[in-house]
Amino acid sequence: MSYVKGLICKECRRSYPKRPLYVCEYCFGPLEVEYDYGRIKRILTKKEIIKRSKNMWRYWELLPIDKYPIVGLYTGFTPLFRAKNLEKALGVRELYIKDDSVNHPTLSFKDRVVAVALSKAKEFGFDTVACASTGNLANSTASQAAEAKFRCFIFIPADLELSKIVGTLIYNPILVAVEGNYDQVNRLCSEIATKYKWAFVNINIRPYYAEGSKTFAYEIVEQLQWHAPKHIVVPCAGGSLITKIWKGLKEFYKLGLIDKLDTKIYAAQAQGCAPIVNAVKENSEIIKPVKPNTIAKSLAIGNPADGVYAVSTVRESGGWAESASDEEIVEAIKLLAQTEGIFTETAGGVTLGVAKKLIKRGFIPKDESIVLCITGQGLKTQEAISSKIGSFIKIKPNISSFEENVIKKIRR
Ligand SMILES: *Cc1c(COP(=O)(O)O)cnc(C)c1O
Ligand SMILES: [Zn+2]
Repeated sequence: MSYVKGLICKECRRSYPKRPLYVCEYCFGPLEVEYDYGRIKRILTKKEIIKRSKNMWRYWELLPIDKYPIVGLYTGFTPLFRAKNLEKALGVRELYIKDDSVNHPTLSFKDRVVAVALSKAKEFGFDTVACASTGNLANSTASQAAEAKFRCFIFIPADLELSKIVGTLIYNPILVAVEGNYDQVNRLCSEIATKYKWAFVNINIRPYYAEGSKTFAYEIVEQLQWHAPKHIVVPCAGGSLITKIWKGLKEFYKLGLIDKLDTKIYAAQAQGCAPIVNAVKENSEIIKPVKPNTIAKSLAIGNPADGVYAVSTVRESGGWAESASDEEIVEAIKLLAQTEGIFTETAGGVTLGVAKKLIKRGFIPKDESIVLCITGQGLKTQEAISSKIGSFIKIKPNISSFEENVIKKIRR
């Protein structure tokens, strides 16, 4: 059973069948999945959704698989909570965190997209899956490929954080570290994808993969009692998540699951890799590729595949874009931890660092609802902050050493 009509070119609107295709052969535009919303509307009501299990598949009619999913059965439905302490710190009235740093199984939002991609790859009959990754996609693809018994190739830039490498190797894929940046890895993978019959989750089955991100938006709406927030701040790498959050909201509006579409979407990037932010600020239709240089490695894509669509999402929704310096990213990671008890990775630091600026400069009003997208886990990027936090106090195992070294020193 499926509500997918096929694929459609985002540029010239030509239709394609449900196959592992990703570019239009007429205009080279990217393809995206098209659904039969008329039929979905009759089935996918609020009453129906809330009866279902709490994972991303509760919205399966809006996902591009024809059979039961084979992985990610516990992925999604991560917490969305009111961030009272952070509200005070930022001087805003209604602030929420959507927290994919605890997503199952590999602690980032990438588990959503990979669950769709690998389920689809199985339907297509692939026996090998692969990806070009900035880290989290590597973790998720390797993990879910192990569970689904695919042969798995992972390509990463050689300078990734140790935890992202270990968190990939543990699943025993073939891990290839390329001496170059992500954009070079990606270019190489495009070449490999045309030569070998593998399912590259973010290349040749990208139209299916990307749809998984919509569940992030569906959940925000459902968890806010079927209301979309006024403002959402989204970290951007390839620009897929932000584009699909917007698509997800538009779909919920079309299906009558929200009654207004008035959410402004904000793109957040690191100063050292901000091609999407630059294009928004320069009011440009094209993305000028940059050479990444930032601690936010998971977002370090200098030539984003969905960059132009990320920019049009920001424009269409009436949002804006901003970047955060490495120092601001670190400050924001600490602020989130010390106000809300949430340890996010550098990408989350980018989201909060940018949100802080947008609020301070008046782009986001202080009295309207705001959702911050926290997409990854702090334990994976410890290098970025380990020299910028406090250290422990070492003592001897007796009370006098404790009092001498701890009590006396902390008494203020
Ligand atoms: C990949 C990633 C993003 C951005 O994803 P895109 O869809 O490529 O823009 C955001 N946060 C984290 C933690 C990621 O790993
Ligand atoms: Zn086309």
